[in-house]
Parts: sequence; C-alpha cells; structure tokens
Amino acid sequence: MSAKKEIHITPVKNGTAIDHLKPGSGQKILEVLNLRDTMVTMGMNVESRKMGRKDIMFIEGREISEKELDKIALIGKGATVNTIRNSEIVKKTELPYPKTAEGIIRCINPRCITNAEKIASKFGIRPEPLEAKCLYCETRMNEEEIVSSIKK
Ligand code: ZN
Repeated sequence: MSAKKEIHITPVKNGTAIDHLKPGSGQKILEVLNLRDTMVTMGMNVESRKMGRKDIMFIEGREISEKELDKIALIGKGATVNTIRNSEIVKKTELPYPKTAEGIIRCINPRCITNAEKIASKFGIRPEPLEAKCLYCETRMNEEEIVSSIKK
C-alpha cells in the first residue's frame, strides 16, 4: 500500500460529497442548489494530485437529484458526486456534460417563448467549448452565459 493512498473518510454521515470541482465552481454550485437550511462544509483551492487545486463540498443530510446533477455538471464538468449513507460512499457518479438540459437553464433571449410562457426550457449541449443551444429559439449560449443562467 502506498503511503500516499487517498483518504476516503468524509465529514458527512448521510448526504453528499462533491469532489474534483474546478477552483471557484464550489461557490456557484452552492448558489444553485438551494442549500439554505443544510449543513455544508466547503474546501476551496484544496491541493489535488489530479487537478493541482480543487474545490470540494460536503453536504450533510441531503442527496442530489438527477436535475441537480445536470446543474452541477454544467458548472463543474468532471466533478465526482459521492452519495454517503452511514459514513460510507454508496454511490459515486462522475459527471460528464449532459447531452440536453431541460428546465434548468433560463434562455438569454428575452423574447424566447420559454421566457414569455410557462414552458420548460430545453437546450442541446455541446462540449469543448461548452455551448447550449435553445431548442425553441436557437439562441446559442457560451459557458459563462450558461453558468449565470442556471436556475436556482
Ligand atoms: Zn430560447
């Protein structure tokens, strides 16, 4: 066994640990997940062998829904979401970009029908560089626009 073996103990008993977030993305995820009444421990710019620096979040008492996984993926591609029960990781999800995003991003075109009426937004997602294309008005959004338009 290597002395540098990664430690997998987390401060979460039941909940979620989000690891391998690019530095700065933890704060944004905190904003979009609506964790107001939830105990969250965040490590920012933590040293990482894989990434140099990373953010890491520990969320007590809360598991992450599929929709939230898509939000997290759009902000922090490559992140690992660990579901923890009784202090053990029971599920580990590595997040690629989703292929589509439904109801989680607001279209930046103010005249888009999804902004005018109660219609769920729907975007096609293209990676490298990240781009979202509205399937209603065909407006394209870059990474910065996507991240700032994710619904809370
Ligand atoms: Zn649109």
